[in-house]
Amino acid sequence: MRVVIVGAGVVGASIARVLSMYEGLDVLIVERMPDVGWGASKANTSVIHPGHEEDPRQHPLRARLCVEGNRLWRRWAEELEIPARWPGELMVFTTPEEEREAMRYVELARLNGVPGVRPVYGAELRALEPAVSEQALGAIYAPTAGTVSPFEAVIAIVENAVENGVRLLAETEVKRVVVEGGAVRGVETSRGFIEADVVVNAAGLHADEVSHSAGVEGDFRIRPRRGEYLLYDEAVPVKPARILHTTPTPLTKGVYALTTVHGNLLLGPTAEDLPYEAKGSAPTTRQGLEHVLREASKLLRELPPRAKLVRTFAGLRPEPPGGEWLIRAYDDPWGFVNVAGIRSPGLTAAPAIAHYVAGLIAERYGVELRRKRRWNPRRRGIRRVAGRSLEEVDAMVRENPDYGEIVCYCRMVSKAEVLEAVERIRRIGARVTLDGVKFRSYAGFGRCQGGFCRWRVALLVSRATGVPMHAVPVATAPYGLGDVKALLRGEAQ
Ligand SMILES: Cc1cc2nc3c(=O)[nH]c(=O)nc-3n(C[C@H](O)[C@H](O)[C@H](O)COP(=O)(O)OP(=O)(O)OC[C@H]3O[C@@H](n4cnc5c(N)ncnc54)[C@H](O)[C@@H]3O)c2cc1C
Repeated sequence: MRVVIVGAGVVGASIARVLSMYEGLDVLIVERMPDVGWGASKANTSVIHPGHEEDPRQHPLRARLCVEGNRLWRRWAEELEIPARWPGELMVFTTPEEEREAMRYVELARLNGVPGVRPVYGAELRALEPAVSEQALGAIYAPTAGTVSPFEAVIAIVENAVENGVRLLAETEVKRVVVEGGAVRGVETSRGFIEADVVVNAAGLHADEVSHSAGVEGDFRIRPRRGEYLLYDEAVPVKPARILHTTPTPLTKGVYALTTVHGNLLLGPTAEDLPYEAKGSAPTTRQGLEHVLREASKLLRELPPRAKLVRTFAGLRPEPPGGEWLIRAYDDPWGFVNVAGIRSPGLTAAPAIAHYVAGLIAERYGVELRRKRRWNPRRRGIRRVAGRSLEEVDAMVRENPDYGEIVCYCRMVSKAEVLEAVERIRRIGARVTLDGVKFRSYAGFGRCQGGFCRWRVALLVSRATGVPMHAVPVATAPYGLGDVKALLRGEAQ
């Protein structure tokens, strides 16, 4: 049976990985971008939520899959060598009204079976988080919260899925789902027709359009909701040990302050509904970034100096009507599955969503899910020079002299790592771009943001791929990068 998955975000990738565990399924991911994970799955807060912020009376499936996803991520991160940390989170309240609101989440934790959620005050709060703001009256502590590297998560999941037989077709846009006689026949794409027995729509912001093209859920529309962030250098004076966030509002889980898995301080996001037409890009705004800084001052006892800002960016949440995820396998057309409107906590829930969708396909379309005997759960990350002792590096250089040639000094990335990134991009069938190499090797991720190494990386890519240096694509993701220098001058738009 051929299953075509539309979209290589964390949801589509996770579904592909889970389906790759079973015999008899020919799984193809069709992605319109040159590489995987360049949609909402790249530009987000990166939090693996505990599940105490989901109301099971309002969104029972979301609540269940969030809690399950949090549990599954521990295993997935370990199996796939995805950078992850599990520091727990503190929902900070600064007024008695916020405290009352925050207490609701202790009850939701109980309803959802989230362990260890409780209020903390005074000395205990400050022992848990020395960086917390003086304004904090207390916090709700949720010990099971974590953070992963979201773009590396998608890369790792796709690498593992491909290793297990899944194929990726990048730079291929699904134009419409082809239905004949009440059943799915395949998808019409920018590169021609692809036959399919089952089409899984995991197209993020564009999943409503894909669904309409299959003739279902005509009223379902996905609205972009912008979230803006500031990302700081590793060397800021005050960095949180836990994941901190303000008390949620009906629109958002609040503004976060967290130390990313790569050691940077991340502040954000905002939550701003944009018109339906604004799905294409999301620049940062001065008002948005100022809002983030104001809210972050309720979290941290000291905000970082502006000179430590590395960059600003924005992501677009695929916001469905009423916040309700649309996960459904249809009889008409037979073989069409929507996994649409997967707004937060979609990153957290993705592994659980994937198992749920596999179950739906099995049940609705009578597919017997028989585990492969030789399914490989493991994927190795890129071997890195950074953080190793000189003795270890010596041994690596003896094995491959390219480990001794540093390309990116901010992050200490060697030529060997850059070349391995190129090789891995090719192996999954994506296009080699400078951004793709950066996300895998970290060359260009440091303080200078590629100012010094981009040239060298482009040269290495050019030699490895035969593409002339001037033609090596940068392929920046469509979600806008802010102009940091403009922000420093106080004139960001
Ligand atoms: C600002 C922000 C903060 C968030 N914070 C968190 C958080 O901390 N924790 C959490 O759990 N969740 C968070 N989320 C939610 C989470 O990021 C999303 O739920 C999740 O990434 C959705 O994944 P997806 O695969 O459905 O969508 P995407 O990652 O957008 O993937 C969809 C893919 O489909 C492709 N595509 C679209 N149309 C087509 C087509 N016609 N043909 C082929 N390909 C197509 C796109 O190019 C894209 O790659 C946040 C989201 C945002 C934006």
